Amino acid sequence: MNEMNVPRPNNLDAYWMPFSDNRYFKSNPRLLARAEGMFYHTADGQEILDGTAGLWCCNAGHGRREIKEAIQQQAAILDYAPTFQLGHPIAFEAAARIAELTPEGMDRIFFTNSGSESADTALKIALAYHRARGESSRVRLIGRERGYHGVGFGGMSVGGIGGNRKQFGALLPYVDHLPHTHGIEANLFARGLPEHGAERADALEALVALHGAETIAAVMVEPVAGSTGVLVPPRGYLERLRAICDKHGILLIFDEVITGFGRIGTNFGAERLGVTPDIMTMAKGLTNAAVPMGAVAVKNAVYDAVVDNAPAGIELFHGYTYSGHPLAAAAAIATMELHRAEDLPGRARAIEPLWQEATHSLKGLPNVVDIRDFGLIAGIELAPRPGKPGQRGTEVFRRCFDKGVLVRVTGDIIALSPPLIIEKPHVDRLYGTLADAIRAEA
Ligand code: PLP
Repeated sequence: MNEMNVPRPNNLDAYWMPFSDNRYFKSNPRLLARAEGMFYHTADGQEILDGTAGLWCCNAGHGRREIKEAIQQQAAILDYAPTFQLGHPIAFEAAARIAELTPEGMDRIFFTNSGSESADTALKIALAYHRARGESSRVRLIGRERGYHGVGFGGMSVGGIGGNRKQFGALLPYVDHLPHTHGIEANLFARGLPEHGAERADALEALVALHGAETIAAVMVEPVAGSTGVLVPPRGYLERLRAICDKHGILLIFDEVITGFGRIGTNFGAERLGVTPDIMTMAKGLTNAAVPMGAVAVKNAVYDAVVDNAPAGIELFHGYTYSGHPLAAAAAIATMELHRAEDLPGRARAIEPLWQEATHSLKGLPNVVDIRDFGLIAGIELAPRPGKPGQRGTEVFRRCFDKGVLVRVTGDIIALSPPLIIEKPHVDRLYGTLADAIRAEA
């Protein structure tokens, strides 16, 4: 399609944009009109290299024909059918395909429509699990500072981002937080998993001592925290967390909304990091973001405890009108088929050394105080301007965009997470443009 034919809204007022500076945007709109492969195209016809896979979600690249056709075909067969006390074949097929990718013994899949819903669903399943086993005092949920689990009340409460919480009052009671894992002093410019900081997991023992294990239902963490600036887990940290959870009968939930579907070179982060949770959330890459969909995978024992212990009838009083939506299920199956046929996790692994080299080549540029990477994720931390946190990051974002490269900023940290189909020329252009933008900040 020619950009000239793209309809342009002449009134931007009605849309209250999410997580946005509405006032700035509406006076300086940046409209993405179409996308293909590694690129967006703006309504003005500018080509933008996608350094963020949208919002960490278009892992197979944009505009994939196979996904588009699967959605079109499914729309012609069955637009919608309820999944409460009924079913339609493609939702079962999608669940079975996901279960082929999840760690062994995590074969039960609950469908949602987003990462936020997956987070809340995971927390509710954890509560229902303990209650079903007669441990209804286990109601406390443990998250982590700087964790992001979406914007529902559960995920927001367990999440550890002050900015996302303080507008909204008291949130859920019975929530506590572990310290974050960002040991910047000890792990400065670490490549891959940082060496120092596994002992930060021991804070869970302190919370157990404080609250009593018999009050704690679950711990939820991202294997690699993305939204708060790419915090890679110290070597051994997740293993320790797993061991402490096992010791005290606490469920471990991994929020794999970002790390799922090849982002760190394996189907899920659990596989690459060698630690299996009890419950795992996913979304984003599941459908390549072509149709909203999320899911929660649980260990079979968790499903069995909830389902087998329930009286006859509905076992879990939870679900969404669109759980397992046919179009989303079709998109998910087509996406997983692409991942298999093109070995996208393998592609990510193959280009990871080049990605790491390029990422760390930014060391020494003005204001760059730390660099982190893992899989096809990178975080470049800039020193904030005195008294103006976030401003430097925003300037770098705008400068990159104007030069045709999309990066993401969280405060003064630049986070990169390209589609897994990225190739060397894209890497060179992405980092060349970013380096210029950082230099221009000096
Ligand atoms: N969990 C994690 C780890 C995420 O990164 C995100 C989104 O970035 C979410 C949950 C929320 O997902 P959604 O925006 O689809 O609700």
